[in-house]
Amino acid sequence: MELRYIDAHCHLQFEQYDDDREEIIEQMQAQGVAGVVVGCDLELSKKAVELAEQHEHLYASVGVHPTDTSERFDTDDLLALAKHPKVVAIGECGLDFFRPAVVDESEKARQKEAFSRQIILAAEQELPLIIHARPSKGTMDAYHDVLELLTEAKGAYPDLRGDAHFFVGGPDEAAAFIALGFTVSFTAVITFARDYDEVIRAVPLASILAETDSPYVAPLARRGKRNDPLAVIDVAAKIADIRGEDPETVRRALLANTKRLFGI
Ligand SMILES: [Zn+2]
Repeated sequence: MELRYIDAHCHLQFEQYDDDREEIIEQMQAQGVAGVVVGCDLELSKKAVELAEQHEHLYASVGVHPTDTSERFDTDDLLALAKHPKVVAIGECGLDFFRPAVVDESEKARQKEAFSRQIILAAEQELPLIIHARPSKGTMDAYHDVLELLTEAKGAYPDLRGDAHFFVGGPDEAAAFIALGFTVSFTAVITFARDYDEVIRAVPLASILAETDSPYVAPLARRGKRNDPLAVIDVAAKIADIRGEDPETVRRALLANTKRLFGI
């Protein structure tokens, strides 16, 4: 297949696809769309690896989401999965100060501990991180704390890199990630919300990835319905539109950026 797009973040292993997963995966192949299937806990990471094993154009990321509060996960279990040749990243992991009912110091400490262990795992396995950072309403708190932890880790692991997935920060936060060698990625939210236009124009094209986070946030035309990785085509087109750049140039750049980050 001629690879035209890579969805840098999707959850094709979720049960929402149990009825038609193979059909979607075939459509992806027909349209030259590859995807990184991202784990959120150990079980979903295993399923991501299984899918990647079965399909040439699917890759996997293994990790534990910050809101996963089930038992403290075993880093060795993640490490065992991370060694699979189709695993291209560690995550999604990071800090979420929006979703938990109570975000007190102990909750923040719990999330930071889980994130820090995954930063070390990524660094030691020489894999990029897929970062989930969601600040509390009206703030950039989670971004500041994520950036602080990454800056600290860069001291010990200068080659550490990754992607700030579903980026909702502003130009300052984007610039801070880029200075650390990270990319920022955007979903189909940009097809119906204008809040991200400024940051999309502010960052260098070489530091942007396109993703869907499917089954979440379908593009404008299918808003509210289940999303799928084919929507990465709409996201790429919208990035070009917002930046006022040639769609084909942008498509090629997004593809090259994603290949470079994940070593695909
Ligand atoms: Zn996700």
